[in-house]
Amino acid sequence: MKIPENAQKFIDSAKADMDKHGICYSLIEATKISYLGEESENSMVNGYYDDDKKELACVVGKPFMQWFEVFIHEYCHFLQYRVICSELSKEIKEEDEERFEDWLAGEELSESERTIIAKHLVDVEAECEATVIEVVKIFGLEDIIDPAIYTQKANAYLYFYAVLCKTGNWYDNAPYEIPEVYSICGSEFKDDYWDLPEGFRDLVNEHCYEKLE
Ligand SMILES: [Zn+2]
Repeated sequence: MKIPENAQKFIDSAKADMDKHGICYSLIEATKISYLGEESENSMVNGYYDDDKKELACVVGKPFMQWFEVFIHEYCHFLQYRVICSELSKEIKEEDEERFEDWLAGEELSESERTIIAKHLVDVEAECEATVIEVVKIFGLEDIIDPAIYTQKANAYLYFYAVLCKTGNWYDNAPYEIPEVYSICGSEFKDDYWDLPEGFRDLVNEHCYEKLE
């Protein structure tokens, strides 16, 4: 699919904005990348923003509609750190984030500790998702990203952290790419992402993890 004009305009503006702040961005011809480095298979993602490394990455080896949403999401993390200067994103301690990532990579972390960290991560992500909706409206991108459906997908992602916190297993297939999962997640943002919609956990188990042989 050819990139629509309004989307291209937004992408150009986002790139210029990141250039101005010295952020290195890469649009990668792949369908997944690892954010914990080559060795870790438990961290395959569609994109990430790393404020310390001043780096944004997004895979573009997928249909435009799919990667464009990821690109906006990661760009909004950049906005949180560099433009909005959100207190939430500053508060999250690097050390905590690392402990959570180490736990995903197999190290010990008690359930109560990881719940505290995960809730904070969810707060940062929820603020990011709300910013996405703002950006979609400001740039007139509603014909590409329907705010109500995007919010369902965002909710699915935010609810996923409660599952992650129990299992320690990052998804194989993103919950926001699976209609069976995100369609039950509501089209308004929530106050509590630990109060899962009925059946969410089962749907995630069924659709978001590759079956082991
Ligand atoms: Zn995010």
